[in-house]
Amino acid sequence: MKFAQALIRPLSAVCILFGLTVIAGYFGSVEALYRPVTGGPATNPLTAICMIFIGFSLRASRGKGRELWLQRALVSLVIIITSLRFFDMLLDSDVLALFTPFQQQVALDLQLGKSNHMGVNSAIMFFCIALSLLLYGFQRVTASQFIAFIALAIPTISFTGYAYGIDQFYGQMSMLTASTGFALAVAALLMTANSGAVKAILSPYIGGKIARLQTMAGYAVPTLLGYLLIKSLNSNEGDLFGIFVVTICWFIILMVSMSAIFQEKIDHERRRGEFLLTQAAMNDQLTGLANRRKFIEFGQEELKRLQSTKSLLWLLLLDVDHFKKINDTSGHAMGDKILVALGKTLHNSVRTVDLVSRIGGEEFALVLVDTSRQGAERIAEDIRASIARLSVAGWTDIHGPITVSIGCAANDGSHTLESSLNLADEALYQAKQNGRNRVCFADANKGQ
Ligand code: GH3
Ligand code: MG
Ligand code: MG
Repeated sequence: MKFAQALIRPLSAVCILFGLTVIAGYFGSVEALYRPVTGGPATNPLTAICMIFIGFSLRASRGKGRELWLQRALVSLVIIITSLRFFDMLLDSDVLALFTPFQQQVALDLQLGKSNHMGVNSAIMFFCIALSLLLYGFQRVTASQFIAFIALAIPTISFTGYAYGIDQFYGQMSMLTASTGFALAVAALLMTANSGAVKAILSPYIGGKIARLQTMAGYAVPTLLGYLLIKSLNSNEGDLFGIFVVTICWFIILMVSMSAIFQEKIDHERRRGEFLLTQAAMNDQLTGLANRRKFIEFGQEELKRLQSTKSLLWLLLLDVDHFKKINDTSGHAMGDKILVALGKTLHNSVRTVDLVSRIGGEEFALVLVDTSRQGAERIAEDIRASIARLSVAGWTDIHGPITVSIGCAANDGSHTLESSLNLADEALYQAKQNGRNRVCFADANKGQ
């Protein structure tokens, strides 16, 4: 999704550039810039202005305050321009000419019998893109997406017309306008990449993969078959046949999008369910840390990895000193509060590659990967000291510091997790025996 949305800026930049190139063509009287194919359709100056306005509003649309107002103003102008085009068409007037820059040049082209009008199809396309962006700005995401799909259909009809040689399909829409409109409609659709059909089609999961394949195949196969068939029909039948093919293509896309939406919804629920189950199975409810099951799984995985790296893995077993006293003096709720605070301190004391778990009532186990003895000594001592400094309202301010005893054992991959746990447990026992609030290391020769 992020990748898809990252495309919006380059797409809009290219369209602004196209628009400016056309304007430069009129400005410098370089016809090739606004009429790429000699004798073919030209891009009208107002069409170019629509491209530039939409391009800029796409760049501003994720903004807030001022930028949002700029976007609304730009797309509203495009809606007004294109609506005037419909007005002119219905009343056979020429109001738009009054607002068209370089109108003399346009009029000259028309006098010479060259096409230079904003095509009705171009007007519908820009109208839809602008409306889609306006709706997006007002958080009407579903409507915005629906209109953007309609906008996208228009240049694809023109492309089919160019490919099939049916000029009614593209009318006065130049290839440049069609390409720019296509890019702008895609960009407008990508704005809504987090919802509805676009989300479903772009989904990295199985539903999305199927939907993408179906969309592409559903478009490519009828288009290609249509192309081959149309070449073997006479021209009058061809027109109707072309319409049939384009309708089929869009019908298929509509069907695929609908099934993709439902598939994505179902898949999303399943993924969420799975995630919650794994969370519940692998995490401790009170502290949010990993639980004993996760600790064993992680430890064993890391030990397997160790066999090829020759580094050391450290197990730190940590037990709160005189925890019973906390429960007995201030109640179970205070005990829980302290366990949560300890969990946070432990979590913040290690790297993200290490694991902190709560393996019993007030017992925690840490797995430090790729760590030297000096590293383990420093971390264990830091943990001991930072817990002794920890302040928990209602306890440390009245009863003094919370302390822990820590037993540490190393494993180079040559013995089991269980034997390291036993060694760490012995070291922990030693730490308790030696007066608590201290770190003890297992005898390095034992169990190896
Ligand atoms: P020591 O220094 O020898 O470790 O003394 P201790 O009091 O910590 O002794 P012990 O390990 O036997 O006591 C653990 C206590 O932790 C007993 C139990 O009531 C309490 N406990 C276990 N799980 C929880 C829990 O989830 N919440 C709270 N509040 N207390 C718990
Ligand atoms: Mg204990
Ligand atoms: Mg204890």
